[in-house]
Amino acid sequence: MEYCLDCGGKLRGRPDKKFCDGYCRSHYNNELNKNKNAALKEINGILKKNAGILEKLGKIGLTTFTQQMLFIEGFDFKFFTHQAHGKHGEVYKCCYNYGYRFINDDELLLFIVPPA
Ligand SMILES: [Zn+2]
Repeated sequence: MEYCLDCGGKLRGRPDKKFCDGYCRSHYNNELNKNKNAALKEINGILKKNAGILEKLGKIGLTTFTQQMLFIEGFDFKFFTHQAHGKHGEVYKCCYNYGYRFINDDELLLFIVPPA
């Protein structure tokens, strides 16, 4: 016996059926999309926050800072948008147009990605 993926009701008819009807199918797909959008929103929020923190440090004139300074602000090192290369091939992790790279175990160098 198969059960509807949406409401859990018993399914009758074709053996490959997954939903009772069109209502259950569209309800199921809507819920799936809702969750997907919520996950995207959460990740975008983290990336924006990271970029904002780097921007703030840049605005007060800092080009180098410590890992601790970023942690205090709530920076999340797990999330970045892409990697960019400096003039000498150095690799910067970027959050949108702000990037950083470690210059030693604790200190980082700020990088503002030039507009393409
Ligand atoms: Zn159903």
